[in-house]
Amino acid sequence: MTDIKKFTSFATSNCYLISPFDNEIVFLIDLPPNIDEVVDYINTNNLTIGGAFITHGHWDHAIGLSSFDSKAYINLDDEHLARNPSEQIGDFLGDKVSVNKYEGNLHNVLDHEYDFLNVYINPGHTKGSVSFEFKDLGAVFTGDFIFKDSIGRTDLYSGDNNEMIDSINNVFTLFQDDFQLFPGHGDDDTVINIKNNNPFIREYLK
Ligand SMILES: [Zn+2]
Repeated sequence: MTDIKKFTSFATSNCYLISPFDNEIVFLIDLPPNIDEVVDYINTNNLTIGGAFITHGHWDHAIGLSSFDSKAYINLDDEHLARNPSEQIGDFLGDKVSVNKYEGNLHNVLDHEYDFLNVYINPGHTKGSVSFEFKDLGAVFTGDFIFKDSIGRTDLYSGDNNEMIDSINNVFTLFQDDFQLFPGHGDDDTVINIKNNNPFIREYLK
């Protein structure tokens, strides 16, 4: 497989499949709904799942946890969100939808054991939002922190616009210009292109 493969869920959230060791062990970035398609691809290609790294706890990025059997890492500041998708889906659909609470294991991403991975903490969209950088792949995965042409909303539970502006100035600025930025929704682009063209970055970057 190529180093990075993208799957987009019906909720428009992206799941990325990466192989940082350049072999058959793959890791997932985010666990959206209909994760079955990704798992089918993994099984068909005789790949082995090393684990999943979740950018934040919103249901469209984490609800796949309930059908995922391997080790999953998240910033525990977003544990409540990841375990309680029902509350958030109700907000979107305007009605109470019954989805089971997730009772399985969640591992603290700040304690991960992989030297190929750098974790950046970028609150604003949610308290526990993080980005994952893979230096050897020249890639950074930002979830709903930074998109190609916009940024994540800050009006949901545990979101904070001032924290978002701080994260843009203190975390986004750490990303290398020639790295490819893979967001939680929509298309990827280089960090430098996003720095130059994204109107929200242009507005908030001091
Ligand atoms: Zn989100």
